[in-house]
Amino acid sequence: EVWVFTFGKGRSEGHKGMKSLLGGKGANLAEMASIGLSVPPGLTISTEACNEYQQIGKKLSQGLWDEVTDGLKMVENDIGAFLGDPTKPLLLSVRSGAAISMPGMMDTVLNLGLNDEVVAGLAAKSGERFAYDSYRRFLDMFGGVVLGIPHSLFEEKLEKMKSEKDLKLDTDLTASDLKELVEEYKGVYLEAKGEKFPSDPKKQLELAVKAVFDSWDSPRAIKYRSINQISGLKGTAVNIQCMVFGNMGNTSGTGVLFTRNPSTGEKKLYGEFLINAQGEDVVAGIRTPLDLDAMKNSMPEAYKELVENCEILEGHYKDMMDIEFTVQENRLWMLQCRTGKRTGAGAVKIAVDMVNEGLVDSRAAIKMVEPQHLDQLLHPQFEDPSTYKDEVMAKGLPASPGAAVGQVVFSAEDAESWHAQGKAVILVRTETSPEDVGGMHAAVGILTARGGMTSHAAVVARGWGKCCVSGCSEIRVNDSEKVVLIGDNVVKEGDWISLNGSTGEVILGKQLLAPPALTGDLETFMTWVDEFRRLKVMANADTPEDALAARNNGAEGIGLCRTEHMFFASDERIKAVRKMIMAVTLEQRKSALDLLLPYQRADFEGIFRAMDGLPVTIRLLDPPLHEFLPEGDIEQIVGELTVDTGMSEDEIYSRIEKLSEVNPMLGFRGCRLGISYPELSEMQVRAIFQAAISLTSQGVKVFPEIMVPLIGTPQELSHQVTLIRGVAEKVFSEMGATLSYKVGTMIEVPRAALVADEIAKEAEFFSFGTNDLTQMTYGYSRDDVGKFLPIYLAKGILQHDPFEVLDQKGVGQLIKMATERGRAARPNLKVGICGEHGGEPSSVAFFAEAGLDYVSCSPFRVPIARLAAAQVAV
Ligand code: PEP
Ligand code: MG
Repeated sequence: EVWVFTFGKGRSEGHKGMKSLLGGKGANLAEMASIGLSVPPGLTISTEACNEYQQIGKKLSQGLWDEVTDGLKMVENDIGAFLGDPTKPLLLSVRSGAAISMPGMMDTVLNLGLNDEVVAGLAAKSGERFAYDSYRRFLDMFGGVVLGIPHSLFEEKLEKMKSEKDLKLDTDLTASDLKELVEEYKGVYLEAKGEKFPSDPKKQLELAVKAVFDSWDSPRAIKYRSINQISGLKGTAVNIQCMVFGNMGNTSGTGVLFTRNPSTGEKKLYGEFLINAQGEDVVAGIRTPLDLDAMKNSMPEAYKELVENCEILEGHYKDMMDIEFTVQENRLWMLQCRTGKRTGAGAVKIAVDMVNEGLVDSRAAIKMVEPQHLDQLLHPQFEDPSTYKDEVMAKGLPASPGAAVGQVVFSAEDAESWHAQGKAVILVRTETSPEDVGGMHAAVGILTARGGMTSHAAVVARGWGKCCVSGCSEIRVNDSEKVVLIGDNVVKEGDWISLNGSTGEVILGKQLLAPPALTGDLETFMTWVDEFRRLKVMANADTPEDALAARNNGAEGIGLCRTEHMFFASDERIKAVRKMIMAVTLEQRKSALDLLLPYQRADFEGIFRAMDGLPVTIRLLDPPLHEFLPEGDIEQIVGELTVDTGMSEDEIYSRIEKLSEVNPMLGFRGCRLGISYPELSEMQVRAIFQAAISLTSQGVKVFPEIMVPLIGTPQELSHQVTLIRGVAEKVFSEMGATLSYKVGTMIEVPRAALVADEIAKEAEFFSFGTNDLTQMTYGYSRDDVGKFLPIYLAKGILQHDPFEVLDQKGVGQLIKMATERGRAARPNLKVGICGEHGGEPSSVAFFAEAGLDYVSCSPFRVPIARLAAAQVAV
């Protein structure tokens, strides 16, 4: 068995394709060395060795240790220095490194190999101060990381010495101070462990390797893997490498860089450099690093080589790289490289530039931009989130991404009137209802105390691409006093707050915003995306404006038009809707519906026109009717309704009683409405066909698809299909024209998925309503999930919010099964999904692989879905 892989300039036993065996760090070190870059020689102990170590009871087998010793000999001969030899001292760094970068494991031990004899040799060669400074750093790090001695015990000694000697900075300590400190530090080992510091360098190495292996199984690391669903890894690798020193005077230094600017993508080295320093000095922020240009002037040779190496690495990895390096006495050493993390703007520019430079092709470029990157680009962002960390007052669910800054208001009316005065407002509500949409639209951001990722506020806000934080249980809204308690802060009407809809943070005050950066590069990039994907992307849109936004973002039609969202568009409309709801007799209802018909027809005309040439899927009325009642206490409601409808108070009371439900989400809604009140479906269908025919006569290409919600049995669907086709025939003969259309259904009740073959006999298309399907499959109320979801996530009972990321195992199984059964019964059945998951990248990938024809999502997520669909196709 081979456990150990050595590397050094021009020769390596490993390569970058061996991440699962050598870990990310080890594989990249091997690769860099093998393509001829100066990498301090070293060896990587494989992840399989870690696995063996755990299997045989946390022991390093003799076979493994022999390989380590052999590998070390190679390294020693390579560099001409030897572990434990005071005349030619070799110091080592020891680091963990799994296949996936993973916090929670042992990080780094530097300067391993020092003891009283070796330090004297090092002092003779490289100066006393340097040698003893290295020694005391090693004692501290080794004690902490390998033996678990609290760092504070060492820190106390250091602080005590500095105060006794009246020194401010560590760098003020002299060589003899440091010698003294070394003795104190050795004392710490005795105090804390009752044992002497292990002075044998081989023993130090053995303990360090074991500590790395043990850290794989630490509670922190296990927890991290469980939360992030990382499984199937063998263990961590251990990287043992010759130390090089950036702190050997003014011809030495250390730095980190990105080969291109990670924020903007600009093709220019971007990094920091410190003269006469070690890596930890940069990380600890003790000294302010310099711009890389400082290196150009002070170490021109090393700089030149660094620039060449960056080019070599980009050409080799075909990506933007993140690099760590050290210069020891004018000689450059490469310490680490990996692909660099970047912002959305950076990712798009880098991908497009690299195609133009001929470094990658468009297929590869598609994989260089993450769907989350696009999300960043399509919403306003905070200029620098790190600046507001201390101002965060509370955290809710990241319901709709982007950033918002505005003055707090507590009612939809205030939001609209303040907005009309040109103010930016954030609407704060316990929860929102359809009645609030005007105010929500007027607001720059929405904050609610209740509701999950598919609550009304979340869905509506995402539809508009508006920032929203929902389910923020740390806030208490007091509407009557117009104050809200956010964490410990009392925020009044008119106070400024900021919301981060991408993280759920609620922030005090006015934080700085950066506008969405839509560039020509993004457009170019998206044309590549569309060349590769098979899955169609449609949009959920309820108004002509949303439809146009969707179209501009590349939507290929409307996959869901929720007809009820226009009911609140004006006072006259809502009055007519309320008359319809309150109607007791059929005549009353019909006359209310007659009032609504022209409004609906006008809405559909607008949407058909905006989507000229593309399909528009219109869903018949779905929500429980009581959602359209006014808000407030019962007196207010009755008062308002008597005015709106002209009915008596008694009539209204009795009607409201009938409307109230224990479980409205499972109650009188969906197709149950249209079956109980056929005249309601008739009015909607009539409006659709009248609009479609009149626009067709104006030369607009209209493809209506009528969708019946919340079907559970084929009989329900059959009832509505007959009704729809009947009305179509009537309108066609009245208007003397016909047109082709489709009738289909949503699959959002689990039973419908189970009997999908029977349902498909009645339906020309299926559209999975994954919001309701998730709600009913889990039995979690969409509107109340915010109460326990954070607890479930924190305890690892759920890995994700299932209303955000599709549950592939459960809900996904229903989707696959229903698709198969549906297509078996009707081979040309069109199948799509229109729940919120239609814009979530991992869910989109699942739908593409399940063979669906399309996803439909909010207009702002259309580009994200297009990219996610392309990435599974390339
Ligand atoms: C769904 O249930 O997934 C859906 C799209 O419909 P709604 O969110 O309107 O219930
Ligand atoms: Mg639904």
